[in-house]
Amino acid sequence: TVHDYPILIVGRLHAHAAARLREIFPVVQIDGPDVALVSEEDRQRIRGIVGTTDLKASSLDTAFAGAFPKLEIMSSFGVGYDHIDAGDMAKLGLVVTNTPDVLSGEVADTAVGLLLNTVRELPKAERWLREGNWITKGPYPLTRGTLRGRSVGIFGLGRIGLAIAHRLEAFGLPISYHNRRPVADIAYRYHASLTELAVAVDTLICVAPGDASTDKAINTEVLKALGSNGVFINVGRGSSVDEDALAQALADGTIMAAGLDVFAHEPHVPETLLNAENATLLPHVASASQATRQAMADLVVDNLIEWVERGRALTPVAETRDFAVRKA
Ligand code: NDP
Repeated sequence: TVHDYPILIVGRLHAHAAARLREIFPVVQIDGPDVALVSEEDRQRIRGIVGTTDLKASSLDTAFAGAFPKLEIMSSFGVGYDHIDAGDMAKLGLVVTNTPDVLSGEVADTAVGLLLNTVRELPKAERWLREGNWITKGPYPLTRGTLRGRSVGIFGLGRIGLAIAHRLEAFGLPISYHNRRPVADIAYRYHASLTELAVAVDTLICVAPGDASTDKAINTEVLKALGSNGVFINVGRGSSVDEDALAQALADGTIMAAGLDVFAHEPHVPETLLNAENATLLPHVASASQATRQAMADLVVDNLIEWVERGRALTPVAETRDFAVRKA
């Protein structure tokens, strides 16, 4: 290895990231976030932890991190880091990094594809062809849904939200958004509340982080506000949705359709959503191309190398930005 800087990998990690890490650092790997899986000797020497978005919410908490006296950095695979209590890590003086930007285009592409699939029922139309219905029954029924004439609201206009907005602008659709704060120098219309945004649009795209501030934010009130022509797309986090309320809204026509890439308790999807004909479902694949995952894997490793060699993290999360440069 190049650096005597022991790294702990928690859970399954992308093979390229794991292989690069093993070339550069001494590596210990455990199946899940359980200190009991680490030997006392390793516990005393671990300096960095690598985790992935496969981990459950808040699994890397202060109790876990606090067990490693020499720990300095957590480098996480994925841009969402709901599996890390980042605010608490800042209290411990640790820096947490994620993998932003390198996946924004891929996730935005998927969001647009999911929107089209949902509104124009393309997966169902393909099934119609494959099942022979085109020959036996004739053309696929005309879709009630269309993108034409829609207006789009983005819940979470950050890096990915902006990439989605740019794409949908080219589709000729008006864009508005809700964040906690308006974005500077942006022409899109800002709404100070999510319900206000849902009233103003008929197509709501969620790409906000999954944390306490967004927990079950998409609820009955918001879905009612979206209305009977409403389409809801989620490429953010499942925790941001009250899934019972969504299933009910799909069943009783409160909204027209939903396209979901993320769920509250992955990989489990509620039966009510599995059975909903007007829901288009994907197994959390928005960033899941080989090229994009490779770039994310490299950024996980590069954050650690940059930290060890130059004392600064490349992509620290907001909560730990104060610790992104090693104190002298
Ligand atoms: P950014 O941090 O760039 O953007 C997040 C945006 O959400 C910001 O504009 C922020 O604005 C807004 N936001 C955060 N909290 C709230 C809140 N409580 N209410 C309203 N708006 C809020 O993140 P990215 O665009 O890079 O990624 C966004 C999320 O997408 C990730 O956190 C991840 O969960 C998800 N994701 C999902 C993927 C998938 O495979 N489906 C792949 C990649 C990411 P403000 O702070 O002003 O509120």
